[in-house]
Amino acid sequence: MRKFLLIEDSPLVVKIMRHLLKETSHLQCDVANSLAEAQQFLRNRKEHRYLAAVVDLNLPDAPNGEAVDLTLALKIPTLVLTGSMEQHIRDAMLEKHIVDYIIKESRYSYESAIHMVERLEKNETLTVMVVDDSLTSRNLTRALLERQRLNVVEAISGEEALEQLQKHPEVMLMIVDYNMPGMNGIELVRNIRRDANKNNLVIIGISNHGNGGLSAQFIKNGANDFLTKPYSNEEFNCRIIHNIENHENIQEIKQLAYTDYLTQIPNRLSFYEQAQNALENANQNGTSLCMAMIDIDYFKKINDDYGHEAGDAVLKEFSAILSHTFNRFLIARTGGEEFSILLSGLSLDKTYRLLEDFRAVLEDQIITVTNASVSITISIGLVENNNYTLEQLMRDADHQLHAAKDHGRNQICCDQL
Ligand code: GH3
Ligand code: MG
Ligand code: MG
Repeated sequence: MRKFLLIEDSPLVVKIMRHLLKETSHLQCDVANSLAEAQQFLRNRKEHRYLAAVVDLNLPDAPNGEAVDLTLALKIPTLVLTGSMEQHIRDAMLEKHIVDYIIKESRYSYESAIHMVERLEKNETLTVMVVDDSLTSRNLTRALLERQRLNVVEAISGEEALEQLQKHPEVMLMIVDYNMPGMNGIELVRNIRRDANKNNLVIIGISNHGNGGLSAQFIKNGANDFLTKPYSNEEFNCRIIHNIENHENIQEIKQLAYTDYLTQIPNRLSFYEQAQNALENANQNGTSLCMAMIDIDYFKKINDDYGHEAGDAVLKEFSAILSHTFNRFLIARTGGEEFSILLSGLSLDKTYRLLEDFRAVLEDQIITVTNASVSITISIGLVENNNYTLEQLMRDADHQLHAAKDHGRNQICCDQL
């Protein structure tokens, strides 16, 4: 359970925060009403670090932000809560390297405080690469990123950045300086974008003040965003977090678009895209690849006998068994009660035996859903790739599936064996 420390003397604010946490978050917090209490908590919790501290700037025993100094000294990412913030106080706080500040205005302020702590927790799983030839700049950027609990990888040149990307495929965001000896930042971005596998990588270019054209060049060559030097810490943080959240939203939408709503296994669209790649690889490298198309026998009868909901539940259960059994392979729900499997790296013989075992086990299995216990059988069409296109492969598998149906169902058909 991840915890943060809330240092706040106002009972109302504490009540709102507790309520919001209970309603909307998996996070927990310890509450200290004063600097003295905060010190107590921090002494007791040495080995178990807080994810963050949310700290009121004005406390009875710490009227000048002393509590902020305390949490920062212990290197706890610190969010400052304050009733009002004048420019000079804000600048002084940001100078002290807080994560961010929140002005207490409405319920929304507290929601955003919790959101920021949750953000820090997610950041712990993310890796950012900083590409800059200047040690001073790299150190500054690293410090800003680490304050947000992001993991950091560094590269001192474009060339090294490309190597580091190979070594660290987990990098999801890159911050690329323009001015570097050898490959400059824009050339690096262009280089990365040539690789289709790096489409999802977020890139932020850093250009120099007074050269507006560079920012445009960064974007035109494939960067997602840019920052112009000199920038404030606050601006830097906003840009980074904005880009990360944007990226996450897109990934989530993609995930939805590629997942079958009922069964939560990959759908037809996902299958086509991934199968296309796997097939191209197999054709290039001469590795073996087989395609199986599976259709549940007499499925309409399950709907007729027990209702559509029971039919849905059977499809879900069947999908779970299928994805469990074939978790090494590409599977998808490619039709109503039709499923496809792409099996790489096995001979046709072995593939046949694997599928035959599955067919036989399924035949003996009772699937229990709310109002019914049913057993189902499946028909399978199997083909081995022979430098085919995906369309050929699917068509042949479908053909074999029909043959399996025609020959009495509950069997595999493959005319290459
Ligand atoms: P066959 O052995 O020839 O495959 O017979 P079948 O009854 O399985 O095939 P048919 O194509 O006649 O009927 C398929 C049925 O699957 C009809 C359709 O209502 C049902 N089905 C398709 N998608 C879903 C779904 O998402 N949920 C439910 N409950 N039923 C579905
Ligand atoms: Mg069927
Ligand atoms: Mg059918």
